[in-house]
Amino acid sequence: MPIKQEIIDVIKEYQTIMIHRHQSPDPDALGSQGGLADIIRRTYPDKKVYTVGGEVGDLSYLNTMDNVTNEMYQGALVIVTDTANAPRISGEQYSLGEKLIKIDHHPDDEPYGDISWVEPSASSTSEMIYDLYEANSEELVMPSEAARLLYAGIVGDTGRFLYPATTAHTLEVASKLRRYDFDAAKLSRFMDEVDEKIARLTGYVYDNLIIDDSGAAMIILSNELMQEYDIEDSDTHALVPLPGRIHGIISWGIFVEQPLGGYRVRLRSKGPVINGIAKRHHGGGHPLASGAKAVDKEEIEVIFQELITVATEAAIF
Ligand code: AMP
Repeated sequence: MPIKQEIIDVIKEYQTIMIHRHQSPDPDALGSQGGLADIIRRTYPDKKVYTVGGEVGDLSYLNTMDNVTNEMYQGALVIVTDTANAPRISGEQYSLGEKLIKIDHHPDDEPYGDISWVEPSASSTSEMIYDLYEANSEELVMPSEAARLLYAGIVGDTGRFLYPATTAHTLEVASKLRRYDFDAAKLSRFMDEVDEKIARLTGYVYDNLIIDDSGAAMIILSNELMQEYDIEDSDTHALVPLPGRIHGIISWGIFVEQPLGGYRVRLRSKGPVINGIAKRHHGGGHPLASGAKAVDKEEIEVIFQELITVATEAAIF
């Protein structure tokens, strides 16, 4: 049986459905999670459907989470969207359900779940949720709110249709979603706006970016600097695409110092694959967008040298 049919058949079997996503959510995590929840709620009004996970930060214009107790997981179906590996799932209760489904578009390096639907070539998990709906459109109902969330997820993960994972199919799905009744201009404005403090830090990033001749670039955001600009780790997502706007930069790393020590490493590339670097430093992710960890500045230097190596070999300009 095709996987999209199988998933709907399992959803039909369960009365309580808990939907989780990854920690530090982005629009695709919240979009795929909330979009799927709203489709199930509208199609099967008798089912109890909950969206579960930690703080959503400045993305509360997309969705907020439900309050749940461990008891509610008894006999429940748990679906996790947009999350490559179990340790990244937000909400530890995810393992308390009866059956677990993984729906994701990251490389399937660490499989989990009783049923797993993974499409690494999809632009976003939100695009996959639309495909799930369309493959079962005689059964499922898509409310406008679900369309808004899925559209936001696609726009978020494709960098507004900029990144290479944006296919003709992605644009078709986005076009179909835009036909639903939601305020797309307002949503785009929310997604585009940044806090004043982030705008000011943008200036710092461009001023202090280290750029190697190979096209590799890096910057360290120290705890001291983050305090000075009054920002937290979760605010740094808006800074990650900035180096890529500079002509000639091929691959880059943003190293965010953590209050308890060590650095969160956010790696991006316009062509050469960098998730191998991430995997060598306790991380992983997409070929062109990965994350890792560095214990100290020495490890940051090692990672930067690896970025220089891939940028040198790639020579895409
Ligand atoms: P980020 O820079 O946090 O937006 O991460 C980009 C991508 O890298 C995410 O979509 C994740 O798939 C992946 N990623 C980030 N951090 C980790 C990690 N510690 N382990 C594995 N994958 C990660």
